[in-house]
Amino acid sequence: MSTRPRRPLVVKFGGASLARPDVIATRIRGLRESCTPVVLIVSAREGVTDELRDLIERPRATRAHREALARIEEQHPSPSAIGRAHLARLRRLVHRIERRGRCDPPTADRIMSIGERLAVDWLSGELRDVGLPAVGIEADRLGLVTDDRHGGANILIDRSAAAVRAGLGARLRGGRIPVVTGFFGRGPHGRVVTLGRGGSDYSATAIGAILGASRVELIKRGVSVLTADPRLVPRARTIRRLSYEEAEELAQFGAKVLHPLTVEPARTANLEIAVRSLDDPRELTIIGPPRGPNGMRALTLLEPLGLVRIRVPGGRQRPGVVAEASHRLADARVNIVTLFTSSSLLSVVVERTKARAAARALAGLSRGGGASIEGPFPVGLLTAIGDGVLDDLGRIPPAILAEGEGLSATPRSLSFAVPIPKARAALRALHRALVEEAGR
Ligand code: ASP
Ligand code: MG
Repeated sequence: MSTRPRRPLVVKFGGASLARPDVIATRIRGLRESCTPVVLIVSAREGVTDELRDLIERPRATRAHREALARIEEQHPSPSAIGRAHLARLRRLVHRIERRGRCDPPTADRIMSIGERLAVDWLSGELRDVGLPAVGIEADRLGLVTDDRHGGANILIDRSAAAVRAGLGARLRGGRIPVVTGFFGRGPHGRVVTLGRGGSDYSATAIGAILGASRVELIKRGVSVLTADPRLVPRARTIRRLSYEEAEELAQFGAKVLHPLTVEPARTANLEIAVRSLDDPRELTIIGPPRGPNGMRALTLLEPLGLVRIRVPGGRQRPGVVAEASHRLADARVNIVTLFTSSSLLSVVVERTKARAAARALAGLSRGGGASIEGPFPVGLLTAIGDGVLDDLGRIPPAILAEGEGLSATPRSLSFAVPIPKARAALRALHRALVEEAGR
C-alpha cells in the first residue's frame, strides 16, 4: 500500500533568527515528530548583506574590506570545505574589485550571494552537530531560475519547477532536511542573480509554491506584521490576518517586513504564509485568501519623497499633459511613486534623491505650454491599507486632510502626501483614528 507523501512545510529563517540555532533545532524536531517534511530557506546572517553591500559600494576601501572580511569569517565558524571555498572566492572577488576600482552588477550579485551560501553551510553544520540530517543546497545549483535583472530579479517559477521539485523531492524522500539559500537564483545566462533586499522571503514562497507546500512560514526575530512601524508608532499592534492583496499593498507602500514580490507566488498557488516571531510563537500573522472585510487597517509612511506641482492653464482640457509629464520623467530616469491630479494641478511624487531632476525635467512643460512648476517640496506618503478602507474616509482627522497635498485611492488603500515636518505626527494621528479608536 502506498501512502501519499505529506506536503512539506517551508520555513524561512531571517538573518537575526539564525543567532539561535538551538531554537531552530527544537522547532525542526517538533515538526519531524509530527512527520512533517521540512524545507528550510535561509538568508545571510545578521549584518552580513550590509557588509557585502558596503564592500561593493566602496571598491577601493581596502582596509575596510579586510576588516569586513574578518568579521564575516568570524560569523561563520568551522566552515566545511564548501564554506572555505566560498570564503576564498569572496576574497578573490573583493581583490578583483579593488584592482579595478569598480564593481559591475554581475560581480556585485556574485559577492552578495556569498552571505547566504555561508549561512547555509554554517547552519546545516550546526544542525548536523545536534543530530539532524541537514543538507546544504545552493539555489542556483538547484535550478531556481530568474530573469537577468541583477539586484532585483523575478523568479521564473515555470522554468524552475521541474529541477526544484526533483532536487528537493529526492532529499525529502531520503529523510533529509534541505537547507536552501534564499535571496538569489540563476539567471538565463547561468549567472548568479539576486532578488533585491529581503528577497529570501520571496525565495521561500516561490519554492513553497513549486513544492505544493502545506504552508510557508517566515520566521523573523522580534518583528511581526504590525499595524504601523513600531519605531514611529509605539502603539502599533500585530495584525492577525491579511489577504494576499492587502499584504501586497502593504509591501508596495513600503512596509519593510515583506519583500514586494513575496506574496505573488503564494497568491497564485493559494498557499498560506505565516509570518512568525522566533521569540514569541503567539506573534503570528497569516496571509491568505480574502475572507471578506475584517476591518484590518495597516498604515505605512514612505519618506523622504519629493513633490513637484505643475499648474496647467486649461488643465486637463489640454490633451496629453499627463502623458507628456510621465514621458519627460521616464526620459530623466525618474520613477513616479504616485501622481495626484485635479482639473488644473498635477502633483508628481518621486524619490527625494530624484526630486530636483524631476523638477528640471518637468520645467520643459512650462516652456512649451505655459505651465508653471513649483517645488520640489519634501513630503512623506502616508497610506492606510485594508479592504473597505474607503468607508473610513469620515474618520480621517481633518488636519491631515487640510495639510495633505493630494489623495489617491484604490479599493484597498488611501494615500496622502504630507509635508515632511508633519508626516510622523500625521501617521500617529491616523493610527489613533483608524486603529486605536476604532477598536481594531
Ligand atoms: N540577506 C538578504 C538581505 O539582507 C536577503 C534577506 O535577508 O532576505 O537583503
Ligand atoms: Mg538579510
